[in-house]
Amino acid sequence: MTEQSRKEPASGYGSLFLVSAPSGAGKSSLVNALLAQMPDIALSISTTTRAPRPGEVNGREYHFSTVEDFLAARDRNEFLEWAEVHGNYYGTSRKWIEDRMLAGGDVLLEIDWQGARQVRKHFPEAVSIFILPPSIQALEDRLHKRGQDSETTITKRLLGAGAEMAHASEFNYVIINRVFEDALKEFSAIVTASRLRFDKQAARCRDVFIQLGIPG
Ligand code: 5GP
Repeated sequence: MTEQSRKEPASGYGSLFLVSAPSGAGKSSLVNALLAQMPDIALSISTTTRAPRPGEVNGREYHFSTVEDFLAARDRNEFLEWAEVHGNYYGTSRKWIEDRMLAGGDVLLEIDWQGARQVRKHFPEAVSIFILPPSIQALEDRLHKRGQDSETTITKRLLGAGAEMAHASEFNYVIINRVFEDALKEFSAIVTASRLRFDKQAARCRDVFIQLGIPG
């Protein structure tokens, strides 16, 4: 098997989903609920230099790292993308994503707009989704209700929200998270429709297409 033919399934039916949002828009809750419905989509676990929040487990929410180790991994080109967000570094493992895409699986990345921009350069067909809060007040209320961040961190995140949202137009889809269940339905609809695109279906269900004599 040639290198090229081994790579075919990767670009064939695996979809790459990029999800971004300002802190407090409900991104992680929506992603977790979606993955509970669609367990065959793999969530990339990023590396970060931020301290774990109460309840976060190393290797589950993030791979927690020192700044020194993070920068060394970055210099070894181990990240597909990386960015500094709210004063901490975050990065996506290049090897994990490439292995998964080569195997033809669907992958979801929860990253900021800077990361999404870098990933689009490698995977221009990535499907990108931006999640907006219904208002700034709702964002602030959610950050306080979450109770996981200090006042200083919340202020920092609110200030960063405007900068993040200024890049919403770079994304293919936008969900406004007014009512969680409605937002989840919309999220699920985007993912399902993306997976049903002709090229993805033709690659995933090749035998059906051949049997029916459908050119593709
Ligand atoms: P948090 O600290 O609240 O978990 O995440 C802060 C921000 O960092 C969020 O916007 C989140 O999407 C982003 N983020 C998390 N992991 C990555 C990553 O691997 N790369 C990039 N570029 N951003 C990330």
